[in-house]
Amino acid sequence: RRQELAARRDLPAVTRDGVPVTLLVNVSTAADAVAGLAAGASGAGLVRTEVPFLSARAWPTRAEHAAALRPVLAALSGHPATVRTLDFAPDKLPPFLWGTSSRHRGLELMLAAPHSLADQFAAILDEADGARLRIMIPMVTTVAQLDRCRELLSAAAAERGVPVPPLGAMIELPEAVAAVDELAGAADFLSLGSNDLTAALLGLDRRDPALTPGRIADPAVLAAVVSVVRAARRHERDVSVCGDAAGDPALVPLLLGAGCRILSMAPTALDEVRAAVRDTTLGTSAPE
Ligand code: PEP
Ligand code: MG
Repeated sequence: RRQELAARRDLPAVTRDGVPVTLLVNVSTAADAVAGLAAGASGAGLVRTEVPFLSARAWPTRAEHAAALRPVLAALSGHPATVRTLDFAPDKLPPFLWGTSSRHRGLELMLAAPHSLADQFAAILDEADGARLRIMIPMVTTVAQLDRCRELLSAAAAERGVPVPPLGAMIELPEAVAAVDELAGAADFLSLGSNDLTAALLGLDRRDPALTPGRIADPAVLAAVVSVVRAARRHERDVSVCGDAAGDPALVPLLLGAGCRILSMAPTALDEVRAAVRDTTLGTSAPE
C-alpha cells in the first residue's frame, strides 16, 4: 500500500469536489526537507530550529545558527520555507536554561535576551539562499510580543538591505486563541500548533500518552481551531495546521470541515494525507 500511495505523488491534493489543499512538510534536518519535497510537499510549513541545540550551553551564536540552517535552507531552495525561531520548552530544554522558569518558555526567554533573537534573525536572513523565506514565532500570546519580534527582524533586514520576510504567529496557547483577532491583524500569517494547543486546552502535559492527535476533536479544541480559522479569514491571512493532527489521515475530513486548507506534517505522512484529501468530499456546507 505504501508503494501504491508513493506512486500517486504526482496527483494534486484536491478533494473529490475540487477544493485544493496545500500540503507542506515539517522539518528539522536537510534530509527531512529532501524527503518532504520528494513526497510532494510544496514547501516547509515548519522548520524546527531548536533541535540542533538541545544540549547547548549558551544561546547559539549567529555562526552556530547559520551552520545549522544552511543545509536545511539549501534543500528548500525555490520553495516556501517557514523558519520558526527557537522554541525551547519543558520537553526540549538545553542545560543553560535549566532552572529558569518561564510560563511562556522560549519566546519569553528570548525576548528577555533580545540579542539571541537578533542573532537568529541575522543568521536566517543570511542563509535564506533561494528559499521563499517566512519567519514564524512560537508560543506567542500578545501583539506586543509579535511587534517586538518584528522590530528586531526589521532591523536585521535593514542592516542587510533585504526585504522583511512575512512574519507569522503560532497559535498554540489559550491566550493566543483569546487574542486571535488582534494577532491575525498584526501577523502576516498564522499557524496552529495543535500539539501544544490541545495539551493546554485539555490540561494535559505534552508527554501524557492520553495526548493523541485525535484529541483535536474534543469540543473545546475544535471550537478553538474554528475560531482561529475564522479570524484568519476575516484578516485575509493564511492559516496552516502544523501539529501532529495535520499528519493524521483520519483527521483530514475534520480539519477540512473546520476550514483548514494548509496542512504541514512529517515527511512520512504526506502520501497518506494526500490520499485522504483526495477521498474527502467537502460538500456545500463547508466553510469557504
Ligand atoms: C505544536 O505545538 O503543535 C507544534 C507544531 O510545535 P512543537 O510540536 O514543535 O511544539
Ligand atoms: Mg508547539
